[in-house]
Formats: sequence, structure tokens, C-alpha cells
Amino acid sequence: PARTRFAPSPTGYLHLGSLRTALFNYLLAKRTGGQFLLRIEDTDQVRTPSQSGMKRTIPGAEERLYDDLRWAGLNWDEGPVVGGPYGPYRQSERIALYRTHADDLISNGHAYRCFCSSERLDSFARHRSQAGLPPGYDRKCADISSEESEDRASRGEAHVVRLKVEGYPMFNDLVYGKTGQNKTNSSKLDFIDRVYDDPILLKSDGHPTYHLANVVDDHCMKITHVIRGTEWMPSTPMHMALYAAFKWAPPRFGHVPLLVDKTGQKLSKRNADIDLSSFKDQQGIFAATLVNFCSLLGWSHSQKSDIFSLEELEQIFNLKITRGNTVVAFEKLWFLQKAHAQRFATNGGSQFEEMVNRVCTVVEDGHTVEKLSSILQGRTLSEYITPLLRADAKSYTTAKEFVERNSHFFTTQLDRAPYTPTPSSVSSESPTVPMQALHTAAAALTLVPPAHWTIETHRENITSYDGSDAVTIPSGTANAVATDKVFKKELYHYLRWALSASAPGPGIPEIMAILGREETLRRIQDAKA
Ligand code: GLU
Repeated sequence: PARTRFAPSPTGYLHLGSLRTALFNYLLAKRTGGQFLLRIEDTDQVRTPSQSGMKRTIPGAEERLYDDLRWAGLNWDEGPVVGGPYGPYRQSERIALYRTHADDLISNGHAYRCFCSSERLDSFARHRSQAGLPPGYDRKCADISSEESEDRASRGEAHVVRLKVEGYPMFNDLVYGKTGQNKTNSSKLDFIDRVYDDPILLKSDGHPTYHLANVVDDHCMKITHVIRGTEWMPSTPMHMALYAAFKWAPPRFGHVPLLVDKTGQKLSKRNADIDLSSFKDQQGIFAATLVNFCSLLGWSHSQKSDIFSLEELEQIFNLKITRGNTVVAFEKLWFLQKAHAQRFATNGGSQFEEMVNRVCTVVEDGHTVEKLSSILQGRTLSEYITPLLRADAKSYTTAKEFVERNSHFFTTQLDRAPYTPTPSSVSSESPTVPMQALHTAAAALTLVPPAHWTIETHRENITSYDGSDAVTIPSGTANAVATDKVFKKELYHYLRWALSASAPGPGIPEIMAILGREETLRRIQDAKA
């Protein structure tokens, strides 16, 4: 069983990329009967000035993160709120633990205190950044004796703790295969002999850096698999070095590819609305849809269809992740939304009720429901909308679009263009169906007693209705069966025009059942006039 974790910094909200990372970790844990942990990494980023300015913890961001994860169904087995045996699960509450571990590395010679001034370090940083390298260090302080180091520290002299990197063990990435630099930890600068990566583990304020806290926690929380974005891949050799220094067995790492748009640009807030709230609140995407969408971002499966619920994903997920950037195609999102809408409609349940409620709200906001009373005939709005949604769920994207698409169900003033026959009956070769025959057939269909006004009755009546008498057959072109087919096709076409102004949507028997007897009759009479 895998123990995985999602370890966000509460500096931003959940977006498409982080939801995917959380999802893959969650699925791997569930698939293997393991645990999924949530850990809040709120020590480093909070205090580290970045290029975009000082990142600060956003008030309420943690709660929103919890809400977003719960909304997606990614409930964590251990973490904030729910607790667990390896807590606390918020790094800012574990500072003492990181210090103890840094001390351990100092005593065994794998780390050392560095008392250098920022001016001195800046000069390395400047030179190294010209070469595109992280700020390096010449290990001046590595030579300070442990007595002197202890002494200066105990007198309160400002210092950081650095890892003395001896090399970077290779690792077998679960996605990218054998990875690592296998390089020695030193490079040359023009004005000193050697400069080393020796990363800072503890900052001068006693707070851990991301590397130290992340590694200590993954070890102490018994994490077996780390699934994270490729943006963290450059840090992994460093983490491997840290595991080696601690003499700990590292977890398995799997780096999932970067999300890009169709032009190959990194997907970001600048070029797409990727914040969870934009999907959930603004676009009305179902959690099931977004989870399904995220699951397909880089993961390849051998199932027949792409449509999965979270529960289904928990059964079939594996780490067959494609290397290389993942292109995010948002059209797929709407395809999946329709598929899940259809599933909800078929299964009923609370998600379908939620859809009905959403549609009711849109109708109530935009229409005068009183005006619909002649259609509703005593039914409540939700009683009216329920069968409509069931009949046309396969086209449901958002409640608003659904109501627009089916607007003819929400008006008594149907706006029909003059009737035009189906293209197939326009050619002189084919039988023509006279208008009068269509009127008669349509009217006949309404002669159903109220108690039998059902989809089934209408379906049966339409299929059994023989209007062939009324069809004029050009000599030698059609047999009786073909004629019957032509008539029925034309009748369907006519009924769609009469009942819904030719708009696409539910089938004719469904439309008749949903509109009800009075309104169907009215529309058919209206069409004839
Ligand atoms: N705190 C890091 C983040 O913000 C965690 C990276 C990791 O998974 O190791 O994504």
C-alpha cells in the first residue's frame, strides 16, 4: 500500500495543476489500499522573497483549500482537521523537529553552520546567476572547527545551516526513468577555486527551507511515493542527497509533466482560467467532470471510454503517465460535462437533484414563472424540469445554456419561421407529403386520453401511425415501406417545428409528455392556423 501526500503551500488557491497532483496522489493511495495525507507547507515560501515579491499566506486560504479538496471528493486520511498518528500536519507547527534534524546532520558532519555575510554570498550569487546556476558557496565555513562553530552559535552569531553535499545519487523516477545529474557538486568561478551547491537547510531565523522540511516530513510521515509536478524535479537530486546524509531510504518519486496550452505555453492564470473557483463557481462544472478531466491530463489508460467517476478511477488508476508536456484541451471538459450530466440523469440521486435545482434557479431568475402556469398545469417548476432534464441531459453543459437551448419549453409564445419540408422531400424524385396530411396526423396524435399521456404511448402512436395514404408517390420511385419511412420522417420534422420551433432537444414523444396535453394540443392547433 502506498502512503502519498499532497503538500501545498497556502499561498494560492487550488488550480488545475495542483488538483491533478492531489488527484494522482489520492488515486495511487486508494488503488493500493494505502493512505492519502494532506500536509500544509507553510514555513519556507511564507518567508522567502520571490521574484514576484514577498509571498504571504492568504488569510482563509487553508480553509478554502480544504473546501476545494472536499468538493473534488479528495478526502484525506491524515492531515489538518482530521489529525493522524504523524501530526501535526502543518509545517509551522513542526519547527523544533527540523532544528533537531539539522543538528543531527551537523554532529555527523553532513551539515555545517555558515556565518558568512550576505554581501559575501551575494557576490557568488551574482557570478553564478550569470552562468544560470543557483547561488553557490565556497565552503569557507565548512572548515570552522566544531568547537568554534558551537561557540559562535551559542553567543548568538547569525548563521545558516548548510548541507555539505557530497554528490547526487541517481534515482529511478516512476515517470521519467533513471534520472539525476550524477555530477560532482562543484564548479569553477573565475575568482575562487571552487564553488559548491551546499544548500541552506535552516535559515538565520531558525526556520527550515523547503528542502529540509519536505524531506524530514516525508520520512517522518512514512511517505512511500511522492507524485509532484516536474517543476520540482530540479530539487529531487538535492532531496536524494539529503536522504543519503540522513541514511534514510528515500520514497519513490514520480514527476508529472507540465500542463501547457495548445501553443505550448505553460498553463497559467495569465493564459487560462485555471483556478478551481472558475470551473466550479463561474462555469458550473461538476466535481465529477473536473476530476475526470484532471485524471486524463497525462495519464493513459486502456479502458474503452474516457468517462470515469472518482470511484471508478480509484479502481483502475496506475502510473502510466506520459512524459513530456501535457496539452490541455478545454473542449474535452465540455464533452465530459455532458457525459456526467447524462450519468447523473440516468442514476438519479442528489447530483441529479442538484442539476434540477440549478435549472430551476435559472428559469426563476429569467422568466416569469406565473406566465408558465398554462404549461405547468399545476405541476411545480421542478416537476416540469425533471423529465426535461432527463430527456436532454446528454446536452447539458451549464444550467444557463440548458435553459437557452430549451427556451421553447419556457414560453407560451413560440416563435416559428414558416414551415419548410425536410431536405429529402424537396427533390422531385421523392414522394411529397402534403401539409394537410401532416396537420391531420399531428392532430390525431393528440387524441390520447389524459391518463395515457406518456412517452410510451406517443412513441407507439407515432410508429404505428400509417399515413401512407396521404403520400403522393412519383411513379416507380418508392415502395410502400420507403413511403412509410418518408412520411414518418416528415411527420417528425413537422412535429418538431410545431412543438419546439425546430429547436434540437428531446425526442418528439418526450416533448409531448413534458409539455403536457393542453400545451401540446395548443401548439399543434397553433401550427395549423
Ligand atoms: N510545497 C510544495 C508545493 O507547494 C510541495 C512540493 C512537493 O510535493 O514536494 O507544491
